[in-house]
Amino acid sequence: MEALPCQGCKGLCCGPVPVTEKEYKMIHKKLKALPKKLRDDLKNQPRMFGTCIFYDLHKDQCGIHSVRPEVCRAFGYHKDLVCFRKPELATKETLTFKETHIGYLSIDFTWKHF
Ligand code: SF4
Ligand code: SF4
Repeated sequence: MEALPCQGCKGLCCGPVPVTEKEYKMIHKKLKALPKKLRDDLKNQPRMFGTCIFYDLHKDQCGIHSVRPEVCRAFGYHKDLVCFRKPELATKETLTFKETHIGYLSIDFTWKHF
């Protein structure tokens, strides 16, 4: 699968995303396992309002990449999740979720939940 040209976007498309209970638990586990310094560094970054609370501005990438929610993995590759920098990659059918969502990261779940 061709990669999206995300470098330099600084989390442009990373806003509030829906999570399932399983995803929430995996993120929780990942963050608990992070050394305090790394965790605090990620937590205290000065993000723009609306940017995902887990976007790592210093590294210019997702701060929880290995456990990012399904919608983040799918972004850019489905007809309903088009990246404007590479719209030709959005060829898959509309994303359908198998599990129900329990809320949105950055809105319902913020750093105080993790
Ligand atoms: S998916 Fe598209 S808009 Fe989002 S960071 Fe990557 S290149 Fe930028
Ligand atoms: S979890 Fe990661 S990929 Fe998903 S919106 Fe947040 S920073 Fe972006």
